Amino acid sequence: MSFCVRCGKDAEGLIDGMCAECFLGSRKPTTLPHHVDLFRCTNCGEFRKGEDWSGRPLEQAVEGAAEDSLSVIREADVKELSVSFTEQDPYTFLAVVDTVIDVNGCEVADSASVIVRLKNTVCKRCSRQLGGYYESILQIRTAGKEFPDRLRDEVLNRIGSIVAAQSRTNRGLFITKMELVTGGPDLYLSSISLGRSLAKDIGDSYCAETKEAAKLVGQTSDGQDMYRVTYLVRLPDYHVGDVVRFENRYYKMTRVSAVGGKAVDVVNFRERAIKRSDMQNVKVYEKASDLRSATVVSRSPGEIQILHPSDYSTLDLKIPDDAEIEESVKVTEIDGVLYYVP
Ligand SMILES: [Zn+2]
Ligand SMILES: [Zn+2]
Repeated sequence: MSFCVRCGKDAEGLIDGMCAECFLGSRKPTTLPHHVDLFRCTNCGEFRKGEDWSGRPLEQAVEGAAEDSLSVIREADVKELSVSFTEQDPYTFLAVVDTVIDVNGCEVADSASVIVRLKNTVCKRCSRQLGGYYESILQIRTAGKEFPDRLRDEVLNRIGSIVAAQSRTNRGLFITKMELVTGGPDLYLSSISLGRSLAKDIGDSYCAETKEAAKLVGQTSDGQDMYRVTYLVRLPDYHVGDVVRFENRYYKMTRVSAVGGKAVDVVNFRERAIKRSDMQNVKVYEKASDLRSATVVSRSPGEIQILHPSDYSTLDLKIPDDAEIEESVKVTEIDGVLYYVP
């Protein structure tokens, strides 16, 4: 049997020969400073936590700031913790941290309070973004003169979601600004690596030609050369769905990816792969949006009868055996002959 040397009470776990109450005496097991500052970025609304910034509701940020500034004596383990607060004014909150702590097997409840002061500031990312900081430029262009709105939106949406995904794990990544210049969009980016990864992604997914050029713009404070890199991505003219010419044959492009393309011959409907290195020789014959429709009159195995889209004469077209034929089909005219586009 062990007992407390101070009060004589029987006790299980003794600290320095004393029970938990006597050991603590007038000592508070948990303490908080008089006040703590909570920094909020006025631009993005995120709160600072240590060196990091994160977006969360004000309530959580106030409670977190109080909890993070709690000191607990070495001999105690926090078993339960809850924070509540009252707003004194929109920038001042009185937070109370209630705890149940374990001191050598003895549970003791405690409570401490702190004033959380909300301070407005601008985070590093926002101050860079607002200041127009950039390390690379991504220029998106097309091989031809035109840059169709739909294609531009598609590429910009893709870029937007890649940047959003990457900035979730690295908030230093952002698009500083976008300019629509003659020829296409120029995106100013916060880092060289972001420009490089976007150029690679867009280049791969569209089989586009990419180029980069670095320019020395000065030196960092520690004497390192500082570069800005411009990435140029030139989107090819062809797109999935277009009828293209390649090695003197005509194909419908069915797939474009990092390794090259897939295309179906419009004469014999055989599919073939085109290596990425050969993709530069693919020329658009007729854009998907320009393909004409012809009304289907009847169908039989391997063949359909259609109305010619210009003179409405009836004529037979070969189709693949597995073709799903609806009321009309897309056709293309090569050397005065109409072909069904699969
Ligand atoms: Zn005691
Ligand atoms: Zn910010």
